[in-house]
Amino acid sequence: MDCIFCKIANKEIPSSIVFENDRVIAFRDINPVAPVHILVIPKNHVESVQHLNEEHYDDLKEIFKAIKEIAVKEGIDKTGYRVISNYGKDGGQEVNHLHFHILGGETIGKLRC
Ligand code: 5GP
Ligand code: ZN
Repeated sequence: MDCIFCKIANKEIPSSIVFENDRVIAFRDINPVAPVHILVIPKNHVESVQHLNEEHYDDLKEIFKAIKEIAVKEGIDKTGYRVISNYGKDGGQEVNHLHFHILGGETIGKLRC
């Protein structure tokens, strides 16, 4: 499968990894839009939130545990951060492997929510 995030998870292409366990890997976004901009992904390929089912729940649990831990490591657990997952055309998803953006290190501008 030609998936850039699977290649990052398999270390076939380099990335700046900030967290890893057997289910999850997190790395710095190549084109950051905030001082802290990290992508958290399951190592197992799944396309998006819309493609999740029960078999992914253990991965999701680990993802949200990782997000908390990364926030502490990055020093943004007190100041706050935003977690975003884009899906599909209207959501603006560019990479079709589920990922959660962590944005922080400055006040993140509001969209409409
Ligand atoms: P999306 O728009 O799909 O939610 O976000 C995809 C994100 O992946 C973008 O913020 C983009 O900068 C990032 N990205 C795309 N290719 C790479 C890559 O090869 N390495 C890293 N570290 N980030 C990438
Ligand atoms: Zn993938």
